[in-house]
Amino acid sequence: MRLLLATRNKKKLEELRRILVPLAQVELVGLDDVPEYPEAPETGLTFAENALLKAREGVKYTGLPTVADDSGLAVDALNGMPGVFSARWCGRHGDDQANLELVLAQVSDVEDAHRGASFVCAAALVLPEGKEHLVHGTMPGMLLRAPRGEGGFGYDPIFLAEGQTRSNAELSPSEKDAISHRGKAFRALAAVIAKSL
Ligand code: IMP
Repeated sequence: MRLLLATRNKKKLEELRRILVPLAQVELVGLDDVPEYPEAPETGLTFAENALLKAREGVKYTGLPTVADDSGLAVDALNGMPGVFSARWCGRHGDDQANLELVLAQVSDVEDAHRGASFVCAAALVLPEGKEHLVHGTMPGMLLRAPRGEGGFGYDPIFLAEGQTRSNAELSPSEKDAISHRGKAFRALAAVIAKSL
């Protein structure tokens, strides 16, 4: 069974193939593998809205069952922001370094006890007959005071997951998959996919 993952991000496609294919017995294709369609901007104010928006769009234009996700960092001291604005917190889309530096500066005078933060992922499955499923995964932890490590992406160098002594950027990809918001959300979605397709 062919399943569309509504993303052009090759790393995300690889990561989700690692998780979904063995659990749900599907062939996972990305947006570069299907005829191009007009992609609406991610205008939702929640991760769930954005994930559903992308998954519905995939079904509408390709007729394939479609999964999509949206994720980001929710900082307690910033009332859950950057949230859905994680990729463009500094005002430019995808400038990971500037985004991370801005968050660090914003919480520079926040004491350790109040530096809690979580990565959050919403993952949606929309089927051609219209059925929709939504799951969430979270990775709780706290913000460090300076970046550590070379791996990962985004805010990984300033995030210490609960129970870890190394930043997310110091974990191997499989160590991160095992505890990550995306790993948890997509393992939950894999079970739904296996039952629905
Ligand atoms: P998206 O789900 O690909 O749209 O991710 C949105 C943004 O959230 C990314 O650009 C990153 O800034 C941040 N983000 C999401 N997941 C992670 C992660 O696992 N590590 C670090 N940053 C992340």
